[in-house]
Amino acid sequence: MKYCSVPNCRSYTGHKFPKDYALTMKWRVAIRREDSKTKELWNPGSEDIVCHNHFNKNDYKDTLLACTGNEVFLSKR
Ligand SMILES: [Zn+2]
Repeated sequence: MKYCSVPNCRSYTGHKFPKDYALTMKWRVAIRREDSKTKELWNPGSEDIVCHNHFNKNDYKDTLLACTGNEVFLSKR
Protein backbone atom coordinates (compact mmCIF):
# COMPACT_ATOMS: atom_id res chain seq x y z
CA MET A 1 0.00 0.00 0.00
CA LYS A 2 1.33 3.35 -1.02
CA TYR A 3 0.75 6.24 1.30
CA CYS A 4 0.34 9.84 0.34
CA SER A 5 3.61 11.68 -0.23
CA VAL A 6 2.60 14.78 1.67
CA PRO A 7 4.34 15.05 5.03
CA ASN A 8 2.16 14.05 7.97
CA CYS A 9 -0.57 12.73 5.71
CA ARG A 10 -1.50 9.09 6.25
CA SER A 11 -4.04 8.68 3.54
CA TYR A 12 -3.60 6.27 0.72
CA THR A 13 -4.80 6.00 -2.82
CA GLY A 14 -4.60 9.08 -4.94
CA HIS A 15 -2.96 10.48 -8.00
CA LYS A 16 0.47 9.50 -9.15
CA PHE A 17 2.86 12.27 -9.93
CA PRO A 18 2.39 13.61 -13.42
CA LYS A 19 4.74 12.67 -16.21
CA ASP A 20 5.16 16.28 -17.12
CA TYR A 21 8.31 17.56 -15.47
CA ALA A 22 7.15 21.13 -14.95
CA LEU A 23 3.95 20.00 -13.34
CA THR A 24 5.74 17.53 -11.14
CA MET A 25 7.96 20.35 -9.98
CA LYS A 26 4.92 22.36 -8.99
CA TRP A 27 3.60 19.47 -6.98
CA ARG A 28 6.94 18.95 -5.31
CA VAL A 29 7.16 22.58 -4.35
CA ALA A 30 3.57 22.62 -3.16
CA ILE A 31 3.84 19.66 -0.83
CA ARG A 32 7.00 21.09 0.71
CA ARG A 33 8.61 17.81 1.38
CA GLU A 34 12.35 17.74 1.60
CA ASP A 35 14.77 14.90 1.31
CA SER A 36 15.96 14.07 4.79
CA LYS A 37 19.51 13.51 3.61
CA THR A 38 20.11 16.22 1.07
CA LYS A 39 17.68 18.82 2.42
CA GLU A 40 16.67 19.44 -1.13
CA LEU A 41 13.27 18.99 -2.65
CA TRP A 42 12.13 15.44 -2.30
CA ASN A 43 11.99 13.56 -5.56
CA PRO A 44 8.98 11.30 -6.09
CA GLY A 45 9.33 7.82 -7.51
CA SER A 46 7.15 6.46 -10.26
CA GLU A 47 4.81 4.85 -7.75
CA ASP A 48 4.47 7.75 -5.37
CA ILE A 49 1.09 9.35 -5.03
CA VAL A 50 -0.68 12.33 -3.59
CA CYS A 51 -4.06 11.59 -2.04
CA HIS A 52 -7.29 13.27 -2.91
CA ASN A 53 -7.21 15.51 0.13
CA HIS A 54 -4.76 17.82 -1.57
CA PHE A 55 -6.69 18.43 -4.70
CA ASN A 56 -9.21 21.12 -5.16
CA LYS A 57 -12.45 19.21 -5.47
CA ASN A 58 -14.39 21.84 -7.30
CA ASP A 59 -12.20 22.51 -10.23
CA TYR A 60 -8.85 21.71 -11.58
CA LYS A 61 -8.75 24.58 -13.95
CA ASP A 62 -5.92 26.69 -12.67
CA THR A 63 -2.60 25.78 -11.30
CA LEU A 64 -3.23 26.22 -7.71
CA LEU A 65 -0.54 25.93 -5.18
CA ALA A 66 -2.17 27.49 -2.21
CA CYS A 67 -0.97 26.16 1.09
CA THR A 68 -3.18 26.78 4.06
CA GLY A 69 -1.99 24.97 7.11
CA ASN A 70 -1.59 21.38 6.10
CA GLU A 71 -3.77 21.72 3.09
CA VAL A 72 -2.07 21.74 -0.25
CA PHE A 73 -4.08 22.17 -3.35
CA LEU A 74 -2.76 20.84 -6.57
CA SER A 75 -3.81 21.12 -10.12
CA LYS A 76 -3.84 18.16 -12.43
CA ARG A 77 -2.87 20.34 -15.33
ZN1 LIG B 1 -2.46 13.23 1.48
